[in-house]
Amino acid sequence: MASCVFCKIVAGELPCFKIYEDEYFLAFLDINPWVEGHTLVIPKKHYRWVWDLPNKETAKSGEPTIEEYFAVVHKIANHYRQILGTEFVMSWVYGWDVPHAHIHLFPASRGKIAFYPKQKLSPLSPEKGHQLAERLKVK
Ligand SMILES: [Zn+2]
Repeated sequence: MASCVFCKIVAGELPCFKIYEDEYFLAFLDINPWVEGHTLVIPKKHYRWVWDLPNKETAKSGEPTIEEYFAVVHKIANHYRQILGTEFVMSWVYGWDVPHAHIHLFPASRGKIAFYPKQKLSPLSPEKGHQLAERLKVK
């Protein structure tokens, strides 16, 4: 979708701080984070809602499935749990802010629980974004 911000990120027309990428999905840092490491996991193909993705029975050839989507979210969340030394990665399927399917992940820092904050953090600077993406990246 030409006017969609996330489609522009997928197309490389807008930059992002990449955490994970495969054929069908992309994860990157939210540039207006609510907690440090706030990550968005999206299908590369434009779907309005997470629940619009087909499942493995209904997907046409070449389409991502909801099972694969949650497997990617699972992989990233458990990666964060491991490298950040925390059990807690809050995750949200909300979908109101950008009209392209996305799942929020809010990793807790070691010993600190990431509750919904009253105020967002400062927008990510290029330096901070690169540094954080390097640290959190799924390799
Ligand atoms: Zn889109």
